[in-house]
Amino acid sequence: MTARISAKIIDGKAFAADLRARLAARVPSFVEQAGRAPGLAVVLVGEDPASQVYVRSKHKATLEAGMQSFEHRLPAETSQQDLLDLVAALNADDNVDGILVQLPLPDHIDDKAVLAAIDPAKDVDGFHVVNAGRLAVGEEALVPCTPLGSLMLLQDVLGDLSGLHAVVIGRSNIVGKPMAQLLLQQSCTVTIAHSRTKDLPAIVRLADIVVAAVGRAEMVRGDWIKPGATVIDVGINRVPGAEPGKTKLVGDCAYDECAAVAGAITPVPGGVGPMTIACLLRNTLVAAHRRTGLSDPEGL
Ligand code: NAD
Repeated sequence: MTARISAKIIDGKAFAADLRARLAARVPSFVEQAGRAPGLAVVLVGEDPASQVYVRSKHKATLEAGMQSFEHRLPAETSQQDLLDLVAALNADDNVDGILVQLPLPDHIDDKAVLAAIDPAKDVDGFHVVNAGRLAVGEEALVPCTPLGSLMLLQDVLGDLSGLHAVVIGRSNIVGKPMAQLLLQQSCTVTIAHSRTKDLPAIVRLADIVVAAVGRAEMVRGDWIKPGATVIDVGINRVPGAEPGKTKLVGDCAYDECAAVAGAITPVPGGVGPMTIACLLRNTLVAAHRRTGLSDPEGL
């Protein structure tokens, strides 16, 4: 028998749609003041199918928000120097407020060198060391989109996070570490767990907030969750589906089990995923304001 789902289901899809509508509503006043729309440049090298899907949906969402989208699709054999030259041209282009180089890059390109070449003021992914450093010391930064979106969902559900114990599982530069920094900024007590952590279930059981960013299908079980805790499942894992030959997406948390114990939980899909693109647009609008000398749009 499956346990009953008692948690509040956090509707990231609806939250993201609302955020995108609020962003779109701010674009006309930017256009009025700056004389142009905010612009996002997305660079894709090669033909990775998942990356192509991401780039397409970013392009569509950018246009829907009333922003300019500049797509640069380069062949897989593009040299690192040609890619760096393109980044330099985008850095110099005043119509471009945000630059996103879609990862992963082909093996012959050093992604660190490419990310380091992006002007930190246009680094809407928030991966540049300058933005990571600013986040760590509490200065104005562009913050990676997935953790930023996860924080927005947490604040929407819980309000003030101060004093809560958050356990972040995963220590990557794009999710785990910036997530931990954001939660620390909100005055949470933060534990970062990772692949070497001993007795992970016992640590997760202490958490008021669990953020799972591991990349292992349904690793976090229901009996790891403290009753009433809030669970943010960042994981996206493709596993075999019920019908032969079909696949389905699952998170890093065993959803039914965790939802029977948690106070609130994000589903996969429809939780954190949609927040990532919405936050990319948010960062582009914020970068556009800062680059133009305007104060940050409020309430985003
Ligand atoms: P990553 O592979 O860079 O990092 C995974 C982290 O998990 C590592 O720090 C590792 O120490 C930790 N880990 C691995 N095995 C573990 C174990 N057994 N116990 C505890 N910790 C363990 O991955 P990432 O880029 O941070 O992404 C994590 C997940 O989030 C993936 O499923 C990815 O697809 C997903 N993701 C989703 C979005 C989104 O938009 N929703 C965005 C980025 C990543």
